Amino acid sequence: MRVLVIEDEAKVASFIRRALEEESYAVDVCDDGAKGLDLGQNGSYDLIILDLMLPGLPGIEVLKGLRKEKVQTPVLILTARSQVEQKVRGLDAGADDYLTKPFAIEELLARARALFRRGVGEVTGILQVDDLVLNPATREVTRGGQRIELTAKEYALLEYLMRHAGRVLTRPMIVEHVWNMDFDSFTNVIDVYVNYLRNKIDRGRERKLIQTVRGSGYVLRAV
Ligand code: CA
Repeated sequence: MRVLVIEDEAKVASFIRRALEEESYAVDVCDDGAKGLDLGQNGSYDLIILDLMLPGLPGIEVLKGLRKEKVQTPVLILTARSQVEQKVRGLDAGADDYLTKPFAIEELLARARALFRRGVGEVTGILQVDDLVLNPATREVTRGGQRIELTAKEYALLEYLMRHAGRVLTRPMIVEHVWNMDFDSFTNVIDVYVNYLRNKIDRGRERKLIQTVRGSGYVLRAV
């Protein structure tokens, strides 16, 4: 697994590099946005970790440039606590996940692993989070190898959650993507369906994949 780290703060960059190398990933570090875009377009990376505040070219432009060139490598963006707007713009521009500085290195490693799994899965079209596997071609869902029967709406909700694993999905986002309707009066329906899904996916299992984010929505992620 090859990782490109685009980060101009030398201390942060070497901290990330060391941690990733300890996990046996191959790591390239770049301290300039323009150079980073070039590397990201031409190198074959499995993950790009991208700081948003960069000399040369702002991180958001690096990201847009990569997606414009159809580089599908998962991108994890790093933002400062105060940059809520940047975070949203980053996700809108095609980032797969974000971390707010300062972060714990364990969290960065966990997110990197989740993004690798997704990146690998997408080559075959199969989505996998932890031991939960969804095959969009056959609409078959298994957890730990056991087949799980879902209704059409449950399936649509699960596929949406899995395609955006690790990201918090708000109720309005879920309504728009799964029900294709406006949010008004739908909030209870989502909670009901999430509960149906939980019963089938998580009940009786040690690792609960569907998590509630209080005041925001839901996230499906490996724990
Ligand atoms: Ca920076």
